[in-house]
Amino acid sequence: MDSTPHWERRYYEAVDRMEADERQWQAVDGLLRRLVSRLRSAAEGRHHMLDDALERVRHGTRESAEGPRLEALIGSLSDALAQLDGARPLPDAEAVVNAPEPAQPGTTHAGVLLAVLEQLPLDTALEDERDALQQAIADGGDIASHGRALVGLVESQCQRLRADKAALERLLVQVSHRLDSMGRYLEIDQASGEASRQELETNMAAQVRQLGNEIDTATELDTLRTQVRERLHRFDDHLRAFREREAERSRGWADLSEQMQKRINELEQSARELTLSLDQNRQQAATDLLTGLANRLALESRMAEVCRRRAGGEGPIALIVFDVDHFKRINDDHGHAAGDKALRIVAHQLKKALDGAGFLARFGGEEFVLILEQHDTAAALTVAERLGAHIAQLGFHMKGQPLTITLSAGVTAIGDDDSPEQAFERADQAMYRAKRAGRNRCELG
Ligand code: GH3
Ligand code: MG
Ligand code: MG
Repeated sequence: MDSTPHWERRYYEAVDRMEADERQWQAVDGLLRRLVSRLRSAAEGRHHMLDDALERVRHGTRESAEGPRLEALIGSLSDALAQLDGARPLPDAEAVVNAPEPAQPGTTHAGVLLAVLEQLPLDTALEDERDALQQAIADGGDIASHGRALVGLVESQCQRLRADKAALERLLVQVSHRLDSMGRYLEIDQASGEASRQELETNMAAQVRQLGNEIDTATELDTLRTQVRERLHRFDDHLRAFREREAERSRGWADLSEQMQKRINELEQSARELTLSLDQNRQQAATDLLTGLANRLALESRMAEVCRRRAGGEGPIALIVFDVDHFKRINDDHGHAAGDKALRIVAHQLKKALDGAGFLARFGGEEFVLILEQHDTAAALTVAERLGAHIAQLGFHMKGQPLTITLSAGVTAIGDDDSPEQAFERADQAMYRAKRAGRNRCELG
């Protein structure tokens, strides 16, 4: 007979019962954890009720739940799955964890993977990989490794998208640079070749419009890239043609410019020669051919000028008229050529003795005229006498015979109201007085 007291037996029975309850709940807890984990990996995101229920169960199991509460949670999970999967009730936890995968797609792990695979927007290049993975999933095997393969496929697609984006950006930068450089080229050349530039711009605008249409309608990046490259080549062709037209045009301008420059050089040379010739003619027109002194034309011009200056208050200016005495005799005795020679010697000697002072001209025949600026009549008389004495003391020889040549001179001051003729007339009259007074002398007029 059991001698254990009644209260003690009751105690041990209660402890045993509690320990059994605890083991039972621990088992349920473990089952629930595995169930939740598998359901989450297979069904997360497929239905919000299921997600909520899973979250609550996960939370509940984490907090060493009590029996009634766990029962409620399992109930809600069951409802959520039923919602997801038609009216099908949730099998008990042990069955879900241990049962083989049902073949129905959409609710199995493999079904979820297949559905995800189906909806993945993949490039054509990855289609084979998708097909292979679909086949592998359908054939069974390790669902975790299929999951990793799916993640790998998604990553490949992302990499391709990133690469495509980078390629597209590079392409756009290329197009943008090309358009910029064309724009700069057109700006630089804006001033010239208007027609050619407009033609280029029209072509370019058409190409850019076409490119825009193609970008709008292109679905494949490779096609778009090919089309853009094609357009860029056409841009280059048009630009090259434009540059060739411009080069041709500027060669034309260069030729024309060279011809014009040549013509201008010729004209400048002609103008220089004409100016020189004109100067020579003017010089010749103003020069006495026999003596090389200023001639009567140059004398008249100078007389007009000095009279104007005297009228303007400048002065004093003197005028002297020289006439070779008895010159006719030289011609008569020694010939006209000897007379010419005597005239040239007299002119040369007068010029030499003046040494740059005054304006000496041959008035005609054997008469010479001297204009002396800054000389009053007295100073001019002194010069006239000095020149006369100089000529008179020259030792001429004609055909071996010595010859003395003398001059008669008339000196006058150009008045501020004199005309050239009046001034000349007074000097000429004074010279004739010198003749009458015996020659080889000077008279004031
Ligand atoms: P007077 O002393 O009065 O002046 O006498 P004159 O002989 O010098 O004067 P007249 O007017 O009678 O003669 C001037 C001569 O000068 C006349 C002319 O033949 C000469 N004669 C004028 N021009 C030239 C010339 O260019 N060459 C030469 N050889 N003789 C000239
Ligand atoms: Mg004379
Ligand atoms: Mg004379």
